[in-house]
Amino acid sequence: MHEKCGVVGISLEDRDAARPLYYSLYALQHRGQESAGIVTHDGFQQHSHVEMGLVGDAFEPGDLEQLNGPNGIGHVRYPTAGSVNACCAQPFSVSFKSGSLGLSHNGNLVNAGEIREQLADLGHAFTSDGDTEVIAHDLARNLLEEDLVRAVKRTMSRIHGSYSLTIMHDDTVLGVRDPQGNRPLCIGKLEDGYVLASESAAIDTLDGELVRDVRPGELVVLHPDGTGYDTYQLVQAETTAHCFFEHVYFARPDSVIDDELVYEVRRELGRELWEESGIESDVVMPVPDSGRAFASGYAEAANEDGSGVEFAEGLMKNRYVGRTFIMPTQDERERAVRLKLNPIKSSVEGRSVTIIDDSIVRGTTSNQLVQLLRDAGAEEVHVRIGAPQIIAPCYMGIDMASREELIAADKSVEEIRAEIEADSLSYLSIDAVSSALGNSRADLCLGCVTGEYPYDIDGETTDRDVERPVISGVGAEADD
Ligand code: 5GP
Ligand code: MG
Repeated sequence: MHEKCGVVGISLEDRDAARPLYYSLYALQHRGQESAGIVTHDGFQQHSHVEMGLVGDAFEPGDLEQLNGPNGIGHVRYPTAGSVNACCAQPFSVSFKSGSLGLSHNGNLVNAGEIREQLADLGHAFTSDGDTEVIAHDLARNLLEEDLVRAVKRTMSRIHGSYSLTIMHDDTVLGVRDPQGNRPLCIGKLEDGYVLASESAAIDTLDGELVRDVRPGELVVLHPDGTGYDTYQLVQAETTAHCFFEHVYFARPDSVIDDELVYEVRRELGRELWEESGIESDVVMPVPDSGRAFASGYAEAANEDGSGVEFAEGLMKNRYVGRTFIMPTQDERERAVRLKLNPIKSSVEGRSVTIIDDSIVRGTTSNQLVQLLRDAGAEEVHVRIGAPQIIAPCYMGIDMASREELIAADKSVEEIRAEIEADSLSYLSIDAVSSALGNSRADLCLGCVTGEYPYDIDGETTDRDVERPVISGVGAEADD
């Protein structure tokens, strides 16, 4: 339901970027399984390979050899609802009068339609309905009149919404994070170059060092010879809109995002969950893998309070089953949960059990699990969730669960408890989330749990003063 693509960009001193890009995409595979791609530049021309499927399937050994050059960008794409569409696989690449462009985008614009129409009126032809192509065309157009930094700034003043981008203009790799920092992006240093990546785990994979997060509204330009980078704070917004769900679910626990180690945030959320709604039971079990850090924090806090509850890995996961979310129909999703998770009877039989998961979306997982645990002999099944109720869609994304699909959209916690047939059910409060993240509510995007968004979205309310960029007249000056 939320968009989570992975983006990366690499500039090296004296070796091809293709292989490190490939490894980075592996490290970011959890952020997108629909397609994978790499675009490199060898100083003369662009090379591109973009395929549907997982990283390991999208590239054959020979493919990487064709991707010459020490500079490049990569992308993994998250499956969209409905249209599994090869046209939208990325990086998007295009050649135009002032050079070649490659773009990898994580996020979702809320005004892509308007900009597309303006550009179409000016003669731009579009080959996909994705917003990434809109950014590419807008940037290409600005590059005809301006230098790189000003062109990016002008594009940023026109696009509104969520974006972490890695861009390649000829052999220069850039990274851009939207003014509210909705999606993550960080800078890393390698022995012989620099990397931009959605998550620091990709930098670790390359034996690099995390330098810092790209700041909201900042442009980072890597030197094509791999020796350094320049940064430009192009837009300064008063508040951020970091997606709290990155910390709750999307990101790898071993990544550091906006200065916080995701694993520690999840453990802290688990501790808060115990503080707010802990319940005595014989055993606490995570729903693997996403509930693990929450459950360990929860059990730790419980035992500090003298509860004596046992922490057990009582649900075994079949690691060969893909994420249940990808299954298109409800029937398939239910089957997938059964395929994916199996209780260990001895942890469960005759006992009261608390299971901990990060979130409930449609309710399929918890519903099935409660049933499964009862069948395995559990006396009581309590459910604790490390996030608030998801009541509204994510517009910063594309795989949009609509309001009708969200179990919490029109049901109280008690009604949901009854529907999943749990003995008790509690979610985490929004305040606990903001305190565990060390961010005020005003600096987080909480759209999916409040129904109020940090962006100006047609038909929805916003939770702040949103200044939409002035987009009348394509020639509008970017002021600097
Ligand atoms: P449900 O079964 O209630 O529809 O979904 C809840 C489960 O899906 C949780 O175990 C959670 O870890 C996972 N989940 C939450 N958000 C997302 C998402 O955006 N994409 C995917 N693939 N899984 C999600
Ligand atoms: Mg899960």
